[in-house]
Amino acid sequence: MLILFNQFLLNFCLLITSLLFAFLPFRHVERISASSSVRTRVLFGLVAGLISVLLVLNSVTYDGAKIDLRLVALVTAFFYGGWISGGITFIGIVGARFSITPPGVYEGLILTILICVSLLVTASIYRRFSARTMKDYLILISIGIAYSLPALYLLTDTYVHFLKISFVYIIFILLGGYVTYQFLQELRKHFQFVQTQQELALTDGLTNLANRRKLDETLAHYDQHGYAFSVLIVDIDFFKSVNDTYGHDGGDVVLRQLSQLLQHCSPDEAVVGRYGGEEFVVLLPDMPLNEAVRLGETIRSACADQHFVFSTYPAFHVTLSIGAASSDQGETSFEVVQKADQSLYQAKQTGRNKVVGYSEE
Ligand code: GH3
Ligand code: MG
Ligand code: MG
Repeated sequence: MLILFNQFLLNFCLLITSLLFAFLPFRHVERISASSSVRTRVLFGLVAGLISVLLVLNSVTYDGAKIDLRLVALVTAFFYGGWISGGITFIGIVGARFSITPPGVYEGLILTILICVSLLVTASIYRRFSARTMKDYLILISIGIAYSLPALYLLTDTYVHFLKISFVYIIFILLGGYVTYQFLQELRKHFQFVQTQQELALTDGLTNLANRRKLDETLAHYDQHGYAFSVLIVDIDFFKSVNDTYGHDGGDVVLRQLSQLLQHCSPDEAVVGRYGGEEFVVLLPDMPLNEAVRLGETIRSACADQHFVFSTYPAFHVTLSIGAASSDQGETSFEVVQKADQSLYQAKQTGRNKVVGYSEE
């Protein structure tokens, strides 16, 4: 009994461990479904197929009968990835079953094919009518068990023997299905949580733009690959007086509206971020300085023309000073940002509401 329990436990461990590894490549994919890309469903089918091969090869021997969790792998593949995933897993199961079939003894193999095909057909009919909850998953598992029992009956010699094995088989598969479903749900929740936290760690809370960490990471990436780029440092003029006049909340509204304007004006490949306070950075991969200055001018004039609205105050205007620089001399990103900062300082010194492109003099 202890050996049997031990074998079952090893099978569960095999299932759970392989599921964990198998789902790592899918961690950024939305819940896999029949409408996921064909590539995802094929990949998922291959993974589930591989798991089912492992399960068949490591089956538990109970009272002369081999019991394994292949049914769970098949239902899981079909439940998430539909026919494509289920079909590929089916091929995996048949292949593995064939490899352990002694020559001339094909009853087990034929019954395996019959059970899997019947299950897939029934499951696709069932899917049309039902939602995709744990109840549905367990119903599909139960249908698979129901189809397997007659095969089990044919392969056992006495009725008592059949009842004994069936009992263990039903408990094993139901438990395996339940554990698998719960595990996959938990795994997905965990992956989603990690992804959300990763995004939050790189996002500015007030404006939803890239934050300083994301900007620094992007610059480090440019350095690492030697990418050419330009940078705009955008600073609101006399922002302190905006806060003084409209309060901190009014200032925040300006920061948010300006963020939208910056994103709207910047090309898709630009990384727009908040460097801190009322200072923003636009990173422009592969853009020469003259084009960056032109973009800066577009942003500056769009902002100067914008009517900022807050609470019951009359609409007001805000201007920007912008420093631009590029990596045209092959400088590090740190040096490029420093050059843009110097240009910004010059823009502030020479009257504000202007764009200054870095030049050596
Ligand atoms: P300059 O034209 O020289 O840039 O003057 P300035 O007033 O814009 O610059 P200064 O550095 O003197 O003031 C920046 C102000 O930005 C001070 C600070 O209270 C305000 N500020 C920084 N972060 C936030 C924020 O998240 N929300 C709001 N509302 N204000 C902020
Ligand atoms: Mg300012
Ligand atoms: Mg500033």
